[in-house]
Amino acid sequence: MIVFEKVSKRYRSFQALTEVSGHIRRGEVVVLCGPSGSGKSTLVRTVNRLEEISSGRLVVDGVDVSDRRVNINEFRRGIGFVAQQFNLFPHLTALQNVSIGLYRLLKMPLREAEALAMEHLSRVGLAARAHRYPADLSGGEKQRVAIVRALAMNPKIMLLDEPTSALDPEMVGEVLNLLRTLAKGNLTILCVTHELGFAREVGDTVWFMDGGRLLEVAPPDRFFSSPQHPRAREFVAALD
Ligand code: ATP
Ligand code: MG
Repeated sequence: MIVFEKVSKRYRSFQALTEVSGHIRRGEVVVLCGPSGSGKSTLVRTVNRLEEISSGRLVVDGVDVSDRRVNINEFRRGIGFVAQQFNLFPHLTALQNVSIGLYRLLKMPLREAEALAMEHLSRVGLAARAHRYPADLSGGEKQRVAIVRALAMNPKIMLLDEPTSALDPEMVGEVLNLLRTLAKGNLTILCVTHELGFAREVGDTVWFMDGGRLLEVAPPDRFFSSPQHPRAREFVAALD
């Protein structure tokens, strides 16, 4: 579903990614971890071309992401993206935040879009919050709206970059619960997270990065109990 072949990325003189090669299968849940500055966000953002790669090849659902002929808006429609900061439109209610893409991008009639948006919000326990503006929602509620907004577009791939790290501790659980449900479906998920319990429970595979390189790919149990690469060992040892 997502194939990285020696993907490198440089920001001017700084090499943020160095020859990352890896393969994410359809329906696979990959948990991406590594120290701060290791290139996790950069890697995630190459998948929907928020960052252009400098060399190598990146194929996402059969599309060569670097191909200039790709209709980028259409391409991005199939990929949900949820970042640390919720990035909701502040001037739109929760319901409007979720429905806007449905009628603007998917050209659904407004009523139908709002009905579908409401269904999605209800499913994550936010029906009673549908007409509130982001400023009047808790962090956990905002992040659930952001996730549901991405999901409503029926993406094939979900990219999540530390979706719980900006939340107060008591709100992390409700967002993780939602992500758990997502992970059970057949979405392909690439998620940066420091929630190790979550990584163990729902991740099919852990990708460990350091210094812009993908140093280890392993099932969560094996990664956390017996990491192979020396940098991965240090990383895991520091977790306890
Ligand atoms: P964190 O865990 O702190 O979020 P990360 O693993 O997501 O870190 P990235 O954000 O991918 O790391 O950044 C990787 C490296 O690239 C960092 O050293 C960062 O300073 C650098 N970098 C990121 N964006 C840019 C940019 N636009 N211009 C120059 N350097 C950048
Ligand atoms: Mg990051």
